[in-house]
Amino acid sequence: MGKKHIFYAGPSLLPQPVYEEAAGAIRDFAGTSVSVLSTSHRTSLWSDMMDETRSLWRELLGIPQEYEVLFTAGGASMEFLRVPMNLLEHKAGYLDTGVWAGNALREAAGIGNAFAVASSADRRYSYIPHGFEIPADLDYLHITTNNTVFGTEIRTDPDCPVPLVADMSSDMLTRPVDVSKYILIYGGAQKNVGTAGVNFVIVRRDVLGHVSRHIPTLLDYRLYIDALSMPNTPPVFPIFVMNRTLHWIKSNGGVAEMNRRNVLKAQALYDEIERNSLFRATADPRDRSIMNVHFDMAPGRENLLEEFVSFAEGADIVGIRGHRISGGLRASLYNACTLEDVEALTECMRTFEFKHKR
Ligand SMILES: *Cc1c(COP(=O)(O)O)cnc(C)c1O
Repeated sequence: MGKKHIFYAGPSLLPQPVYEEAAGAIRDFAGTSVSVLSTSHRTSLWSDMMDETRSLWRELLGIPQEYEVLFTAGGASMEFLRVPMNLLEHKAGYLDTGVWAGNALREAAGIGNAFAVASSADRRYSYIPHGFEIPADLDYLHITTNNTVFGTEIRTDPDCPVPLVADMSSDMLTRPVDVSKYILIYGGAQKNVGTAGVNFVIVRRDVLGHVSRHIPTLLDYRLYIDALSMPNTPPVFPIFVMNRTLHWIKSNGGVAEMNRRNVLKAQALYDEIERNSLFRATADPRDRSIMNVHFDMAPGRENLLEEFVSFAEGADIVGIRGHRISGGLRASLYNACTLEDVEALTECMRTFEFKHKR
């Protein structure tokens, strides 16, 4: 079996040492001769694992003291519900930049007064709205920093006149983040931070406890603070995988180095898309994502899409088909993806162009 170049949007590629450490811990967790899958979360060994994972988060992002790092379950989609439950009293604004942003808004609108402050739906979410008005009386503004499906990204932490909440599911730990610009940041782990089954939530303590509704137990962030993210059995294996992924990021130079590598990888792929007569990039250049590169066949060459996907599979390139909603092509260049993987894809695009020269 040849080495596969994996470009899935999620669950996605993880660093090779993480697979090995995860496999090892299934057989023997930290020299105990007991599998990590069979170790009680009430052991000191496990609470040390939780503590260390929280410290790694703090260290990698420089998280200020007044913030808590929480681990929850239910996927990022569950935070779409927890966020308004905990923070929405009067009204909340959402920036509608794609599929996930829209889902987050729909969930909040079921809880209270939530609406879109701006949207890029008019051009199939191919850009990020700029210069829109933000009502001064919002409880919070919700943004989705990386639009995983259509491939746009907000790559700088905005100065926002109202409290800011961000879904960073698909670009967390891929660049330095100024946490102090946000009151709450969340995401699922399965893009850059580990595997499916656990979410990260970074929240400023003083923003909680100000809503008048009853919050069901497992939706209340205060319970996760009090119980050190173990109000019930935590997703132990996904947390272990997250721990090893954070270690890998740290030993590879941290988030600044991740950013440097990610920019280079994305540049190499966008350059080839622009050079190659068979392809076109779909997002506005100033807003395009360095995580999920969205592209399509050039006008007049649409009929080559299926052939290209099979041709790429023949070159051990997997996962480049676009999301079922967006169509086209998408290559996800998360932290664990290497420049070598990207070069395998660009070379395949060049060969395909040569084959279809006319
Ligand atoms: C993948 C993704 C989600 C959804 O995550 P689930 O864990 O499947 O609920 C939400 N937001 C963004 C930005 C994503 O990329």
